[in-house]
Amino acid sequence: MTTPVRPQHAPLEQFPIVNDCLVVGGVPLPRLAAQVGQTPFYAYDRGALTRRVQALRTALPPEIALHYAMKANPMPAVVQHMADLVDGLDVASGGELRVALDTGIDPQHISFAGPGKSAADLASAVAAGIVLNVESAGELERVAAIGKTLHVRPQVALRINPDFELKSSGMKMGGGPKQFGIDAEIAPDVLARLAQLDVDFHGFHIFSGSQNLKAAALREAHEKTFALALRLAAHAPAPLRTLNIGGGFGIPYFPGEERLDIQQVGDGLRAMLPDVLRALPGVQIVIELGRYLVGEAGVYVSRIIERKESRGRTYLVTDGGLHHHLSASGNFGQVIRKNYPVVIGNRVQQGPRETATVVGPLCTPLDLLADQMELAQAGPGDLVAVLQSGAYGLSASPGAFLSHPAAAEVLVGRRG
Ligand SMILES: *Cc1c(COP(=O)(O)O)cnc(C)c1O
Repeated sequence: MTTPVRPQHAPLEQFPIVNDCLVVGGVPLPRLAAQVGQTPFYAYDRGALTRRVQALRTALPPEIALHYAMKANPMPAVVQHMADLVDGLDVASGGELRVALDTGIDPQHISFAGPGKSAADLASAVAAGIVLNVESAGELERVAAIGKTLHVRPQVALRINPDFELKSSGMKMGGGPKQFGIDAEIAPDVLARLAQLDVDFHGFHIFSGSQNLKAAALREAHEKTFALALRLAAHAPAPLRTLNIGGGFGIPYFPGEERLDIQQVGDGLRAMLPDVLRALPGVQIVIELGRYLVGEAGVYVSRIIERKESRGRTYLVTDGGLHHHLSASGNFGQVIRKNYPVVIGNRVQQGPRETATVVGPLCTPLDLLADQMELAQAGPGDLVAVLQSGAYGLSASPGAFLSHPAAAEVLVGRRG
């Protein structure tokens, strides 16, 4: 009889291990905890962010511009660092827009997507001279009216809800009825209306999905995206300056998931680009990424308060939990709960091991950081590190739930 092989987490190598401690931004975790002055905290590794962008640029054709989608991690220090590495920032609220403008990046390289932009959001965007990814015919009218009032010509691109879906995607954001974007079939009418308004037309934004680990699915979506853009370009009032083809590159979170083959994605784009650039001369192709750029560079660290046994099961109770890291608890859109990669940050590989369940301090069974996972034997004072936590962590969590202290956030590692 063969024993079934249990699926494993994809190997993670972004943080070295020295003296059995995880090292983030050059600092061993216990020392980093002392430096931060509290647990729980999120730490982001500056070098890991830089290396990820460099590796991606190597894999992608040089003609493609890279944007950072800020909602993945809006910590101002992270956004500032990313702004120096990428070609543009994508924001999804007036609050994110302020942080993006603070970086000093050229406003023409900031774009703003999102349904339900308020009058105040639109006015800020128009006044700042950033590019609005307009999500509906109604929003286009509101933008044009605000431009008139402010005596500033709005810079607009149309976000298109494509007539296809990104296959094998963690989160579908295009195809079928959606609150996002203008349905591809009515886009020609909206473009005709746009031609009558006092706005500058930049191009199209076509985002079909998120958290995709399959290069073949992304390649197919890229082909369909370019075909759709070429069809719509025939109705545009001016040549396209930009074509944002979305992103959706995923990272491995759960056992059994394999890393996205980014070289294959890049090779696909390299093969498609000549035809696209011939048909749309002068266009800037943009890829916008959130989690792929920052997700693997972050770790969430909490400290064990208590170790207890309950009917044969070992519980490690920590000072951190779902109020800081909803995704790791399995409650951020997951259908079946699976464990994020978790280690005891000051006993990563050595010493005796055991199966333990890591929970937080909240009075709810949902507050789970690791369910019956193999970990180093640990107790009060030891540090629990949740990896792959640089995206959709703190800002995507219900921090006020149960009124526990807030988590700190630090960006660690030297510049240059
Ligand atoms: C959320 C979002 C992104 C980022 O998605 P990731 O999965 O983090 O890469 C990019 N573009 C748009 C329009 C988004 O809404």
